[in-house]
Amino acid sequence: MDASATGAVEARRSRISRVLTRMEEVGVGALLLSLGADLPWLTGYTAMPLERLTVLVLPRDGEAVLVVPALEAPRVPTEGDLFRIEAWADDENPLSLVTGLLSDKLGRSHLAISDRTWATSLLALEERLPSARWSSSSAVTGPIRAVKDPLEVEALRLAGAAADRVAASLQAGDIDLVGRTEAQVSNEIGALLLAEGHRRVNFAIVGSGPNAASPHHEPGSRVIGAGETVVCDFGGSWSLGDDVGYCSDITRTVVTGEPDPEISECYEVLRLAQEAGVRSACSGVPAEDVDRAARSVIEDAGYGDHFIHRTGHGIGIEEHEDPYLVVGNREPLVPGHAFSVEPGIYVPGRFGMRLEDIVVIGGDGMPEPVNRVDHDLVVVDV
Ligand code: ZN
Ligand code: ZN
Ligand code: ZN
Repeated sequence: MDASATGAVEARRSRISRVLTRMEEVGVGALLLSLGADLPWLTGYTAMPLERLTVLVLPRDGEAVLVVPALEAPRVPTEGDLFRIEAWADDENPLSLVTGLLSDKLGRSHLAISDRTWATSLLALEERLPSARWSSSSAVTGPIRAVKDPLEVEALRLAGAAADRVAASLQAGDIDLVGRTEAQVSNEIGALLLAEGHRRVNFAIVGSGPNAASPHHEPGSRVIGAGETVVCDFGGSWSLGDDVGYCSDITRTVVTGEPDPEISECYEVLRLAQEAGVRSACSGVPAEDVDRAARSVIEDAGYGDHFIHRTGHGIGIEEHEDPYLVVGNREPLVPGHAFSVEPGIYVPGRFGMRLEDIVVIGGDGMPEPVNRVDHDLVVVDV
Protein backbone atom coordinates (compact mmCIF):
# COMPACT_ATOMS: atom_id res chain seq x y z
CA MET A 1 0.00 0.00 0.00
CA ASP A 2 1.31 3.47 -0.77
CA ALA A 3 1.16 6.30 1.74
CA SER A 4 -2.10 7.80 0.46
CA ALA A 5 -3.88 4.41 0.58
CA THR A 6 -2.62 3.89 4.15
CA GLY A 7 -3.91 7.34 5.02
CA ALA A 8 -7.34 6.49 3.60
CA VAL A 9 -7.51 3.22 5.59
CA GLU A 10 -6.47 4.93 8.81
CA ALA A 11 -9.04 7.68 8.21
CA ARG A 12 -11.76 5.01 7.82
CA ARG A 13 -10.60 3.21 10.98
CA SER A 14 -10.86 6.45 12.92
CA ARG A 15 -14.34 7.17 11.46
CA ILE A 16 -15.53 3.70 12.51
CA SER A 17 -14.30 4.24 16.04
CA ARG A 18 -16.08 7.61 16.26
CA VAL A 19 -19.26 6.00 14.92
CA LEU A 20 -19.06 3.22 17.55
CA THR A 21 -18.70 5.84 20.29
CA ARG A 22 -21.75 7.70 19.03
CA MET A 23 -23.78 4.47 18.77
CA GLU A 24 -23.05 3.98 22.45
CA GLU A 25 -24.16 7.56 23.20
CA VAL A 26 -27.44 7.33 21.30
CA GLY A 27 -28.18 3.71 22.28
CA VAL A 28 -27.97 2.08 18.85
CA GLY A 29 -27.16 -1.65 18.96
CA ALA A 30 -26.11 -2.09 15.34
CA LEU A 31 -25.75 -0.02 12.21
CA LEU A 32 -26.92 -1.56 8.92
CA LEU A 33 -25.40 0.30 5.97
CA SER A 34 -26.74 -0.34 2.50
CA LEU A 35 -26.98 2.20 -0.36
CA GLY A 36 -25.88 5.79 0.22
CA ALA A 37 -22.73 7.59 1.31
CA ASP A 38 -22.30 6.19 4.84
CA LEU A 39 -21.02 2.86 3.46
CA PRO A 40 -18.23 4.27 1.25
CA TRP A 41 -17.33 6.78 3.96
CA LEU A 42 -16.60 3.90 6.37
CA THR A 43 -15.40 1.16 4.00
CA GLY A 44 -14.21 2.77 0.75
CA TYR A 45 -16.83 0.65 -1.06
CA THR A 46 -19.77 2.17 -2.92
CA ALA A 47 -22.65 -0.28 -3.41
CA MET A 48 -24.31 -0.19 -6.82
CA PRO A 49 -28.02 0.66 -6.60
CA LEU A 50 -29.01 -2.88 -7.60
CA GLU A 51 -31.94 -4.98 -6.45
CA ARG A 52 -29.32 -7.33 -4.94
CA LEU A 53 -28.77 -6.56 -1.28
CA THR A 54 -25.55 -5.11 0.14
CA VAL A 55 -25.38 -4.41 3.89
CA LEU A 56 -22.54 -3.68 6.25
CA VAL A 57 -23.60 -4.97 9.65
CA LEU A 58 -21.69 -2.95 12.24
CA PRO A 59 -22.63 -4.02 15.78
CA ARG A 60 -21.71 -1.81 18.72
CA ASP A 61 -19.78 -4.75 20.17
CA GLY A 62 -18.44 -7.38 17.83
CA GLU A 63 -17.23 -7.92 14.34
CA ALA A 64 -18.25 -5.78 11.35
CA VAL A 65 -19.37 -7.86 8.36
CA LEU A 66 -20.13 -6.76 4.82
CA VAL A 67 -22.86 -8.88 3.21
CA VAL A 68 -22.33 -8.35 -0.50
CA PRO A 69 -23.44 -10.03 -3.76
CA ALA A 70 -20.69 -12.47 -4.84
CA LEU A 71 -20.29 -10.79 -8.23
CA GLU A 72 -19.61 -7.42 -6.51
CA ALA A 73 -17.14 -8.79 -3.94
CA PRO A 74 -14.03 -8.35 -6.14
CA ARG A 75 -14.57 -4.56 -6.03
CA VAL A 76 -14.55 -4.36 -2.22
CA PRO A 77 -11.34 -2.85 -0.78
CA THR A 78 -9.96 -5.17 1.88
CA GLU A 79 -6.96 -3.18 3.16
CA GLY A 80 -6.74 -2.75 6.89
CA ASP A 81 -9.09 -5.63 7.84
CA LEU A 82 -11.77 -3.16 8.90
CA PHE A 83 -14.54 -5.74 8.30
CA ARG A 84 -15.09 -9.33 7.16
CA ILE A 85 -16.79 -10.08 3.82
CA GLU A 86 -19.69 -12.50 3.43
CA ALA A 87 -20.40 -12.86 -0.27
CA TRP A 88 -23.76 -14.35 -1.20
CA ALA A 89 -24.55 -16.25 -4.41
CA ASP A 90 -27.67 -15.62 -6.47
CA ASP A 91 -29.34 -18.79 -5.10
CA GLU A 92 -28.89 -17.66 -1.48
CA ASN A 93 -31.09 -15.36 0.60
CA PRO A 94 -29.05 -12.38 1.84
CA LEU A 95 -31.72 -11.44 4.40
CA SER A 96 -30.97 -14.65 6.30
CA LEU A 97 -27.27 -13.77 6.28
CA VAL A 98 -28.00 -10.31 7.69
CA THR A 99 -30.36 -11.47 10.43
CA GLY A 100 -27.98 -14.36 11.21
CA LEU A 101 -25.29 -11.81 12.02
CA LEU A 102 -27.49 -10.21 14.69
CA SER A 103 -27.73 -11.96 18.06
CA ASP A 104 -31.21 -12.42 19.57
CA LYS A 105 -30.51 -9.45 21.79
CA LEU A 106 -29.33 -7.21 18.92
CA GLY A 107 -32.30 -8.28 16.81
CA ARG A 108 -34.58 -6.80 19.48
CA SER A 109 -32.52 -3.65 19.96
CA HIS A 110 -32.39 -0.21 18.36
CA LEU A 111 -31.06 -0.58 14.79
CA ALA A 112 -30.02 2.26 12.50
CA ILE A 113 -30.26 1.70 8.73
CA SER A 114 -28.94 3.80 5.80
CA ASP A 115 -31.30 6.59 4.78
CA ARG A 116 -31.07 5.46 1.14
CA THR A 117 -31.79 1.75 1.71
CA TRP A 118 -34.48 0.46 -0.68
CA ALA A 119 -37.85 0.33 1.07
CA THR A 120 -38.17 -3.30 -0.09
CA SER A 121 -35.05 -4.23 1.93
CA LEU A 122 -36.19 -2.41 5.05
CA LEU A 123 -39.70 -3.88 4.88
CA ALA A 124 -38.27 -7.40 4.56
CA LEU A 125 -35.89 -6.84 7.49
CA GLU A 126 -38.71 -5.42 9.62
CA GLU A 127 -40.75 -8.54 8.96
CA ARG A 128 -37.90 -10.78 10.12
CA LEU A 129 -37.02 -8.60 13.12
CA PRO A 130 -40.43 -7.59 14.49
CA SER A 131 -39.07 -6.47 17.87
CA ALA A 132 -36.35 -4.17 16.54
CA ARG A 133 -36.70 -0.40 16.74
CA TRP A 134 -35.48 1.42 13.61
CA SER A 135 -33.80 4.78 12.98
CA SER A 136 -32.03 6.40 10.05
CA SER A 137 -28.28 5.90 10.05
CA SER A 138 -27.85 9.65 9.55
CA ALA A 139 -28.97 10.08 13.17
CA VAL A 140 -25.68 8.34 14.06
CA THR A 141 -23.36 9.33 11.21
CA GLY A 142 -24.70 12.76 10.17
CA PRO A 143 -22.94 14.95 12.73
CA ILE A 144 -19.67 13.00 12.35
CA ARG A 145 -19.71 13.01 8.56
CA ALA A 146 -20.44 16.74 8.51
CA VAL A 147 -17.06 17.46 10.13
CA LYS A 148 -14.49 16.67 7.46
CA ASP A 149 -11.13 15.14 8.37
CA PRO A 150 -7.94 16.51 6.74
CA LEU A 151 -8.03 13.94 3.93
CA GLU A 152 -11.59 14.93 3.06
CA VAL A 153 -10.78 18.65 3.15
CA GLU A 154 -7.87 17.98 0.80
CA ALA A 155 -10.15 16.11 -1.63
CA LEU A 156 -12.74 18.93 -1.50
CA ARG A 157 -10.01 21.50 -2.20
CA LEU A 158 -8.68 19.57 -5.20
CA ALA A 159 -12.21 19.04 -6.52
CA GLY A 160 -12.91 22.76 -6.10
CA ALA A 161 -9.68 23.76 -7.85
CA ALA A 162 -10.59 21.53 -10.82
CA ALA A 163 -14.08 23.09 -11.01
CA ASP A 164 -12.48 26.55 -10.76
CA ARG A 165 -10.40 25.84 -13.87
CA VAL A 166 -13.60 25.07 -15.81
CA ALA A 167 -15.27 28.24 -14.46
CA ALA A 168 -12.20 30.25 -15.50
CA SER A 169 -12.55 28.91 -19.07
CA LEU A 170 -16.19 29.97 -19.06
CA GLN A 171 -15.31 33.46 -17.85
CA ALA A 172 -12.43 33.75 -20.34
CA GLY A 173 -14.91 33.17 -23.18
CA ASP A 174 -13.29 29.84 -24.15
CA ILE A 175 -16.70 28.15 -24.07
CA ASP A 176 -18.85 29.55 -26.90
CA LEU A 177 -22.35 30.49 -25.76
CA VAL A 178 -24.28 32.65 -28.22
CA GLY A 179 -25.86 30.59 -31.00
CA ARG A 180 -25.46 27.26 -29.17
CA THR A 181 -28.08 25.38 -27.20
CA GLU A 182 -27.94 25.09 -23.43
CA ALA A 183 -27.56 21.33 -23.84
CA GLN A 184 -24.49 21.73 -26.05
CA VAL A 185 -22.85 24.07 -23.54
CA SER A 186 -23.78 21.70 -20.69
CA ASN A 187 -22.08 18.81 -22.50
CA GLU A 188 -18.95 20.86 -23.06
CA ILE A 189 -18.79 21.84 -19.38
CA GLY A 190 -19.19 18.17 -18.44
CA ALA A 191 -16.34 17.16 -20.73
CA LEU A 192 -14.13 19.88 -19.21
CA LEU A 193 -14.91 18.68 -15.67
CA LEU A 194 -13.62 15.24 -16.68
CA ALA A 195 -10.61 16.71 -18.51
CA GLU A 196 -9.71 18.62 -15.33
CA GLY A 197 -9.57 15.41 -13.31
CA HIS A 198 -13.07 14.63 -12.06
CA ARG A 199 -13.93 10.95 -12.06
CA ARG A 200 -17.60 11.63 -12.77
CA VAL A 201 -19.85 14.53 -13.79
CA ASN A 202 -22.73 14.97 -11.34
CA PHE A 203 -24.57 17.80 -13.09
CA ALA A 204 -24.00 20.79 -15.40
CA ILE A 205 -26.93 23.21 -15.25
CA VAL A 206 -26.97 25.85 -17.99
CA GLY A 207 -29.94 28.24 -17.82
CA SER A 208 -30.07 31.17 -20.23
CA GLY A 209 -32.39 34.17 -20.55
CA PRO A 210 -35.75 33.44 -18.88
CA ASN A 211 -34.60 29.86 -18.15
CA ALA A 212 -32.01 31.28 -15.76
CA ALA A 213 -34.91 32.13 -13.43
CA SER A 214 -35.42 28.39 -12.76
CA PRO A 215 -32.69 27.42 -10.25
CA HIS A 216 -32.43 23.74 -11.26
CA HIS A 217 -33.23 24.28 -14.95
CA GLU A 218 -32.65 21.20 -17.12
CA PRO A 219 -30.46 22.41 -20.02
CA GLY A 220 -32.36 21.93 -23.23
CA SER A 221 -32.83 23.06 -26.80
CA ARG A 222 -33.01 26.80 -26.14
CA VAL A 223 -30.43 28.69 -28.21
CA ILE A 224 -28.48 31.22 -26.12
CA GLY A 225 -28.85 34.80 -27.34
CA ALA A 226 -27.01 38.09 -26.85
CA GLY A 227 -27.44 40.28 -23.76
CA GLU A 228 -28.63 37.38 -21.58
CA THR A 229 -27.53 36.11 -18.21
CA VAL A 230 -26.39 32.48 -18.35
CA VAL A 231 -26.32 30.62 -15.05
CA CYS A 232 -23.81 27.76 -15.11
CA ASP A 233 -23.89 25.51 -12.02
CA PHE A 234 -21.78 22.40 -12.29
CA GLY A 235 -19.87 19.81 -10.35
CA GLY A 236 -18.50 16.32 -10.31
CA SER A 237 -16.84 13.82 -8.02
CA TRP A 238 -13.10 13.91 -7.56
CA SER A 239 -10.95 11.21 -5.93
CA LEU A 240 -7.58 11.09 -4.26
CA GLY A 241 -6.16 7.94 -5.86
CA ASP A 242 -8.71 5.14 -5.72
CA ASP A 243 -10.48 6.55 -2.70
CA VAL A 244 -14.15 7.52 -2.64
CA GLY A 245 -15.03 10.66 -4.61
CA TYR A 246 -15.71 14.07 -3.07
CA CYS A 247 -17.90 16.61 -4.81
CA SER A 248 -17.26 19.94 -6.43
CA ASP A 249 -20.13 22.40 -6.90
CA ILE A 250 -19.74 25.92 -8.28
CA THR A 251 -22.00 28.47 -9.92
CA ARG A 252 -20.92 31.39 -12.02
CA THR A 253 -23.27 33.63 -13.97
CA VAL A 254 -21.96 35.30 -17.10
CA VAL A 255 -23.66 37.71 -19.47
CA THR A 256 -23.47 37.52 -23.26
CA GLY A 257 -22.63 41.04 -24.34
CA GLU A 258 -23.30 44.31 -22.52
CA PRO A 259 -26.00 43.73 -19.92
CA ASP A 260 -29.08 45.78 -19.22
CA PRO A 261 -28.29 48.18 -16.28
CA GLU A 262 -30.90 46.39 -14.14
CA ILE A 263 -28.99 43.13 -14.53
CA SER A 264 -25.71 44.79 -13.52
CA GLU A 265 -27.30 46.41 -10.45
CA CYS A 266 -28.99 43.21 -9.47
CA TYR A 267 -25.73 41.28 -9.81
CA GLU A 268 -23.91 43.69 -7.53
CA VAL A 269 -26.55 42.96 -4.86
CA LEU A 270 -26.00 39.24 -5.39
CA ARG A 271 -22.21 39.55 -5.16
CA LEU A 272 -22.45 41.49 -1.89
CA ALA A 273 -24.97 38.98 -0.50
CA GLN A 274 -22.69 36.05 -1.28
CA GLU A 275 -19.71 37.85 0.22
CA ALA A 276 -21.71 38.65 3.38
CA GLY A 277 -22.76 34.99 3.64
CA VAL A 278 -19.18 33.73 3.36
CA ARG A 279 -17.85 36.32 5.78
CA SER A 280 -20.46 35.42 8.41
CA ALA A 281 -19.68 31.69 8.28
CA CYS A 282 -17.39 31.40 11.30
CA SER A 283 -17.14 28.66 13.88
CA GLY A 284 -19.82 29.02 16.57
CA VAL A 285 -22.28 30.82 14.31
CA PRO A 286 -25.65 29.03 13.93
CA ALA A 287 -26.06 27.72 10.37
CA GLU A 288 -29.22 29.77 9.87
CA ASP A 289 -27.33 33.01 10.53
CA VAL A 290 -25.36 32.53 7.30
CA ASP A 291 -28.66 32.34 5.44
CA ARG A 292 -29.78 35.49 7.26
CA ALA A 293 -26.56 37.36 6.41
CA ALA A 294 -26.88 36.68 2.68
CA ARG A 295 -30.66 37.04 2.52
CA SER A 296 -30.81 40.38 4.31
CA VAL A 297 -28.60 42.01 1.65
CA ILE A 298 -30.99 40.82 -1.06
CA GLU A 299 -34.07 41.80 0.96
CA ASP A 300 -32.70 45.27 1.67
CA ALA A 301 -32.26 45.82 -2.07
CA GLY A 302 -35.89 44.86 -2.67
CA TYR A 303 -35.29 41.47 -4.30
CA GLY A 304 -36.19 39.31 -1.27
CA ASP A 305 -39.14 37.65 -3.02
CA HIS A 306 -36.82 36.54 -5.81
CA PHE A 307 -34.41 34.56 -3.60
CA ILE A 308 -36.46 31.38 -3.47
CA HIS A 309 -34.16 28.78 -1.86
CA ARG A 310 -31.94 28.27 1.18
CA THR A 311 -28.45 29.80 1.08
CA GLY A 312 -26.47 26.56 1.11
CA HIS A 313 -25.95 22.88 1.76
CA GLY A 314 -23.17 20.76 3.21
CA ILE A 315 -21.03 18.85 0.72
CA GLY A 316 -18.79 15.80 0.81
CA ILE A 317 -19.27 12.38 -0.74
CA GLU A 318 -22.80 13.60 -1.44
CA GLU A 319 -23.59 16.81 -3.32
CA HIS A 320 -26.07 17.75 -0.61
CA GLU A 321 -25.57 16.70 3.02
CA ASP A 322 -25.38 18.25 6.50
CA PRO A 323 -25.09 21.05 7.47
CA TYR A 324 -27.87 22.95 5.66
CA LEU A 325 -27.76 26.76 5.79
CA VAL A 326 -31.45 27.30 6.18
CA VAL A 327 -33.81 29.15 8.49
CA GLY A 328 -34.50 26.95 11.49
CA ASN A 329 -31.11 25.23 11.61
CA ARG A 330 -29.70 26.51 14.91
CA GLU A 331 -26.75 24.05 14.86
CA PRO A 332 -23.52 26.01 15.27
CA LEU A 333 -20.88 25.73 12.57
CA VAL A 334 -17.58 24.12 13.64
CA PRO A 335 -14.12 23.72 12.08
CA GLY A 336 -14.25 21.04 9.37
CA HIS A 337 -17.77 21.89 8.21
CA ALA A 338 -17.89 22.20 4.39
CA PHE A 339 -20.86 23.79 2.62
CA SER A 340 -21.96 25.94 -0.27
CA VAL A 341 -22.87 29.62 -0.02
CA GLU A 342 -25.09 30.20 -3.05
CA PRO A 343 -27.64 33.00 -2.98
CA GLY A 344 -29.58 33.65 -6.17
CA ILE A 345 -32.01 36.19 -7.60
CA TYR A 346 -34.64 34.87 -10.00
CA VAL A 347 -37.02 37.18 -11.86
CA PRO A 348 -39.61 34.93 -13.57
CA GLY A 349 -39.90 35.27 -17.32
CA ARG A 350 -36.90 37.59 -17.52
CA PHE A 351 -33.56 36.60 -16.00
CA GLY A 352 -31.84 34.84 -13.15
CA MET A 353 -28.45 34.74 -11.45
CA ARG A 354 -26.67 32.74 -8.77
CA LEU A 355 -23.17 32.87 -7.27
CA GLU A 356 -21.85 29.80 -5.46
CA ASP A 357 -18.63 28.84 -3.72
CA ILE A 358 -17.82 25.93 -1.45
CA VAL A 359 -16.45 27.06 1.91
CA VAL A 360 -14.62 25.04 4.57
CA ILE A 361 -14.28 26.26 8.16
CA GLY A 362 -10.59 26.17 9.02
CA GLY A 363 -8.91 25.13 12.25
CA ASP A 364 -8.87 28.79 13.33
CA GLY A 365 -12.67 28.93 12.97
CA MET A 366 -12.58 31.19 9.92
CA PRO A 367 -14.31 30.53 6.57
CA GLU A 368 -11.92 29.43 3.82
CA PRO A 369 -13.46 29.47 0.33
CA VAL A 370 -12.44 26.50 -1.80
CA ASN A 371 -13.45 28.32 -5.01
CA ARG A 372 -11.54 31.44 -5.94
CA VAL A 373 -12.40 32.35 -9.53
CA ASP A 374 -13.72 35.84 -10.30
CA HIS A 375 -16.93 36.79 -8.48
CA ASP A 376 -17.84 39.69 -10.78
CA LEU A 377 -20.41 39.53 -13.56
CA VAL A 378 -18.15 38.65 -16.47
CA VAL A 379 -19.19 39.79 -19.95
CA VAL A 380 -18.42 37.17 -22.61
CA ASP A 381 -19.10 36.83 -26.33
CA VAL A 382 -18.87 40.56 -27.10
ZN1 ZN B 1 -28.83 23.32 -6.35
ZN1 ZN C 1 -24.38 24.27 -7.46
ZN1 ZN D 1 -24.82 23.81 -4.47
